Amino acid sequence: MNSADITTVKSILSQPQKIAIIPHRNPDGDAMGSCLALYGFLKKRGHDVHVVAPNDYPKFLKWMPGNDTVINFERENTKAKEVINEASVIFTLDFNDLSRVGQMESVLHGARADFIMIDHHQQPSDYAMVTYSDVTMSSTCEMVYNFIDFLGETDRIDADMATNLYTGIMTDTGSFKYRSTSSKTHRVVAELIDKGADNMAIHQEVFDTNSPSRLHLLGVALSNMVILPEYRTAYITLTQDELDRYDFKKGDTEGFVNYGLTLEGVIFALIFIENREEGIIKISLRSIGDFSVNEFARAHFNGGGHTNAAGGRSETSMEETISRFNDILKTYKDKLNP
Ligand code: 5GP
Ligand code: MN
Repeated sequence: MNSADITTVKSILSQPQKIAIIPHRNPDGDAMGSCLALYGFLKKRGHDVHVVAPNDYPKFLKWMPGNDTVINFERENTKAKEVINEASVIFTLDFNDLSRVGQMESVLHGARADFIMIDHHQQPSDYAMVTYSDVTMSSTCEMVYNFIDFLGETDRIDADMATNLYTGIMTDTGSFKYRSTSSKTHRVVAELIDKGADNMAIHQEVFDTNSPSRLHLLGVALSNMVILPEYRTAYITLTQDELDRYDFKKGDTEGFVNYGLTLEGVIFALIFIENREEGIIKISLRSIGDFSVNEFARAHFNGGGHTNAAGGRSETSMEETISRFNDILKTYKDKLNP
């Protein structure tokens, strides 16, 4: 954020505002952590603040401080629209294009508020009055910490805010191991622990709450894995029938895609998950090194994200999607074997 933006933000926040904070659809730990931490901060600053999530999120995030105050746009539609329409300031966190909020997009287009974007994905759209975008950042949570630091107010970070920020940094960095994890990230995390984030408890809340059916579903996913050594690629499929058989709950497939990358030599991993209700195949893509899954997802599957983690979708059947994917892959043989 440049100094002109910092001055603008300081001036806006010097008056009491009606503020809506919005994560992307299917919010993850970083999206919810950044929204809830910023919520805590702006509340302390005396603003009227609400977090409005486009839809529901997994149970393993529902212990987070402030979770009970989140408005779900799908379930509490009237309230959500009221908050957005009345807002004077709207923060959009952990996404950079209004299409990432699904059904909420048209409501945001109609809002009269000034928008402030805080995000670390590539190729931000130009919809905000203030755009704090940095693709080198580990997470939006690290950026919210910086944002508070730019305002000179890290003293206001309490244990709840620290817990939310720690959670998002932890989930978006694969527990501090991805390439975007810098020494600065670790310094921020150290500060958060000093401010009251209980690191061991947070890891347990997020990662040690498996249900037997989720582990069985992981078994199915791993036995469905197809490995293509000539493309250094591994992919997993899960059909709706398989999800139903193992009592699928939102969030149950989180992390499955990463198993492909643990195979020696594999640098490109994907998971294709059927969602019959939405009529789509949701795709998660991961890579190691310079192969950009952001570009791959943008070019072929109506998606995007980061160089090493992206998402996308297909509107055809699983069979057709996989067949198309295999055709596309043939044109990437050189890029995957540099
Ligand atoms: P995941 O595979 O965990 O859903 O998402 C991986 C990364 O890609 C996240 O940073 C997420 O925000 C981004 N992402 C996921 N799905 C989409 C999508 O449909 N469009 C775009 N532009 N980004 C996505
Ligand atoms: Mn993120």
